[in-house]
Amino acid sequence: MLIFKYDRAATVDVTTERECLDALREAADLLGESPTKAQYERLDVTPSSSTIVRHLGGWNAAKERAGLETANSRGSRLDPKPDDVEIPEDVEWSNLSADQRWHYRHVETNRERTLTRRAANRAWLYEYKHFNCECERCGEETPACLDFHHPDHVEKEMEVGKMVTYGYSRERLLDEIEKCVVLCANCHRKEHYPIPDGVEIPEEQIRETDLCQ
Ligand SMILES: [Zn+2]
Repeated sequence: MLIFKYDRAATVDVTTERECLDALREAADLLGESPTKAQYERLDVTPSSSTIVRHLGGWNAAKERAGLETANSRGSRLDPKPDDVEIPEDVEWSNLSADQRWHYRHVETNRERTLTRRAANRAWLYEYKHFNCECERCGEETPACLDFHHPDHVEKEMEVGKMVTYGYSRERLLDEIEKCVVLCANCHRKEHYPIPDGVEIPEEQIRETDLCQ
């Protein structure tokens, strides 16, 4: 079993205001509207709603800082659709809720934020593999060849690679990584490819390296 030498406390940054604001905007993106505290909590994302409230002095204050609609700003007069904002053809700007209008006004920045976060996560994961990981079966150390394999008994949230793509927080990534064993691509493939029943090769001719463990 590979021992994780990773010093979690030293690597997971303490939550910053920026992370709180990003998380709020991402939640709004996901929900298609400015999240109530209860809605946010149901998403089960980090940082927690209480962390956000603590950092930014209240839920509405945090949403205001994030540029999201707050309960107070609902029902404000309707600004006409800015020319550079695109909405689907069958949608009427004036029929949209304030939150939906916010969503359409920020599509571009939301997309950029996701891409930036994804790129940063990829770089982080590469460094993580470089400094901490080797295949637990054969010792392969090349980051490009290393996978995080979920053993059968663990509850899998998602492939780590997918979580990176979706821009999950580092804390969530580490939670998932800690459930996994590190295998190189070859050993990982063998893990999911036992010698099929009915193969008629004499046992002594099967190389040890052909076996999954
Ligand atoms: Zn290996």
